[in-house]
Amino acid sequence: MTDEPRFAELRRRLGEVEDLRKARQLLQWDLETMMPPAGADVRAEQLGTLARLAHELFVADEVGTLLEELRPYEESLPYDSDEASLVRVTRRDYERAHRVPAELRAEIVRAGAHGIKAWQEARAANDYARFGPALERNLELQGRYVDCLDDGGDRYDVLVAEHEPGLTTVDVERVFEPLKAGLVPLVTGLEPPTGDALEADGGPEVVRGVLRRLGFDGEWGRVDHSVHPFASSFGHGDVRLTTYADGGLRAVYAALHEFGHGLYERGVSPALERTPVGEGASSAVHESQSLLWENLVGRSAPFAGWLAGVLAVDADALYRTVNRVERSLIRVDADPITYSLHIVFRFELERELLAGSLAAADLRDAWNERVAGYLGLDVPDDRRGVLQDIHWADGLMGYFPSYALGHVASVQIWERARADLPGLDEDLGRGEFAPLVDWLREHVHRHGRKFTTLETLERAAGAPFDPEPLLAHVRAKLEETA
Ligand code: ZN
Repeated sequence: MTDEPRFAELRRRLGEVEDLRKARQLLQWDLETMMPPAGADVRAEQLGTLARLAHELFVADEVGTLLEELRPYEESLPYDSDEASLVRVTRRDYERAHRVPAELRAEIVRAGAHGIKAWQEARAANDYARFGPALERNLELQGRYVDCLDDGGDRYDVLVAEHEPGLTTVDVERVFEPLKAGLVPLVTGLEPPTGDALEADGGPEVVRGVLRRLGFDGEWGRVDHSVHPFASSFGHGDVRLTTYADGGLRAVYAALHEFGHGLYERGVSPALERTPVGEGASSAVHESQSLLWENLVGRSAPFAGWLAGVLAVDADALYRTVNRVERSLIRVDADPITYSLHIVFRFELERELLAGSLAAADLRDAWNERVAGYLGLDVPDDRRGVLQDIHWADGLMGYFPSYALGHVASVQIWERARADLPGLDEDLGRGEFAPLVDWLREHVHRHGRKFTTLETLERAAGAPFDPEPLLAHVRAKLEETA
């Protein structure tokens, strides 16, 4: 076989893997939006079967052989070409997928299901001690997973690279240390907000109207409701968002966030469809896009002015409401200013747990200590403390840093877009979003997963991760809304 038919064969095989992955995601979407509760048990089996088949097709020896044979072809092409990128990224995925035994993967999934059950029971009883043994089991399995992929560096590196290709623990620390140093004094000194928050009603039609104006088109997108808003995409022509069912400002801002995720998937070059590079670059880059729309567009004065017209409310009151800052115990309720601190201490605790310097039995005390030190709050009970997130119960470790990295990147990318688009404020004030959408498509979206997290950020923002723009943005907001 020469290179072209070899490459075509690789694409054919990867296309089938993607078909199975997307079918699994569609079943997952259905589970969270439409499925009656009694469907849960058989759905878990269906999801498991599709995941196993996709994994088996992907790690087949033939795929490994094709990737080896295509090395000279890849090296003969420009680094950023679709073809070279596809071979390079697929090889990276393949090497990771191949080093972890299927049985260990299955065990992690099963332990996650048990972990969630133990977590729910512990939450109901408001007692961390009941969750401890399940967390210990998850930690043991994460340790075995890391053993498979450990190349002798910091063991947490393996988990960081899982979500942020090319990044290490030290890279994360270099961003989080100055972020923490900058935010802790600001946040611990915050006074409780004064004045009432604006109540804007407006049902699901309002959310749909705002999304239409943003360019979210019924030809390729749909909006539904779910308990936890999310976005998914099953192809260039099928992008789905969910938001809260009850409408109001909370639903509008959740929809803005998910729109950012959906727009990213929609903007990936259609030439990359049905390949492993036909989706967003990483969790952090994805979050940079959702947060850009939710916080930097959505909480700006020009946008708030436009939205106030749509909702028929006072623009000033709306702006103040969406920019309220309050220290809170719960991560998902946190405002954009205090949010990163919730992430920084989770990152620290995860590392200590994985390294064994913190025992699962001591996690509650360590958690409460960090909340007191970083947010200046006393944790009254486990439900509002160490038991609030599902991630560790599900065996998902190393994911939290992506949220704050995305937050940092969102401001860097936003500043670059503002510099390139001098009329941006006026556009947003008129409800004119196409120039920003086009800019993001050109600088971020179209590349899909061709580049690593850092490569993607440098192409979009012209710099590696830098917490300074976020800190400056936070200081300016606090001054302005004080
Ligand atoms: Zn998100």
